[in-house]
Amino acid sequence: MEAQLLACHALGVDRSWLFAHGEDIAPIKILDPLLARRMNHEPLAYIVGRREFYGRVFYVDPRVLIPRQETELLVEFALDWIRPRQGNRPKVLDLGAGSGCIAITVKCEFPQADVVATDISEGALDVARQNANALNVDIELVLSDMFAGLGDRQFDLILSNPPYIALSESLAEEVVGYEPRLALFSGQTGLELYERLAKEGASHLSSDGRLAVEVGYRQAISVAHIFTEHGWLHVGTMKDLGGIDRTVLFERAKRTPNDS
Ligand code: GLN
Repeated sequence: MEAQLLACHALGVDRSWLFAHGEDIAPIKILDPLLARRMNHEPLAYIVGRREFYGRVFYVDPRVLIPRQETELLVEFALDWIRPRQGNRPKVLDLGAGSGCIAITVKCEFPQADVVATDISEGALDVARQNANALNVDIELVLSDMFAGLGDRQFDLILSNPPYIALSESLAEEVVGYEPRLALFSGQTGLELYERLAKEGASHLSSDGRLAVEVGYRQAISVAHIFTEHGWLHVGTMKDLGGIDRTVLFERAKRTPNDS
């Protein structure tokens, strides 16, 4: 499959063309350098400069994490949540937007939503801007370390697929050798950015809003614990297609009338 996609990219044709010309001899000079890169573990998405996400093509380069299929689960939750509220121009925040795949998909599906996407990396914001332009949507891009650049702004839905890999974890060469470290690693435990989200997020969420985060393998329980420790209500956990707890949902705990 990857060989076919590389050949399509090199020859500027689609897969049906490839099948129809299965007996043709490809010019090795064009294919060889691409094959060499792939054999050196460079991810296909960086070689061809694109990755599909939720049915749309996103430009990617080594300044951003390559969108993962499991992140579509976070997007599906977001779309379900926005659908009945779309008339109210819900304000949606994607923290750590990378390629912009989450924020831009939400805006493409619900143009009435006001979508803000942040990233700590200027390069990532460039990529997100390029994708927003290519898909013809208007989202606000903010250079920001977590909530720091957002003042006291509040949102109805906060989404994040933060870096969640522990520094000690060993990853495939495809990932660790090529994808941005900033987008992958969060610190010693892998949970550091959930701590910050739990601590800093509540004041940026409207009172009946939701926060949804993607989590790494076996992190869901620890993440739910971190948020409840900070006074959030854990309202659910969703499994990805591999049966792994992947998206965890929170609300701000409701205050009773007796609370000060
Ligand atoms: N939001 C982007 C994605 O889900 C980037 C996430 C990141 O860089 N950790 O692909």
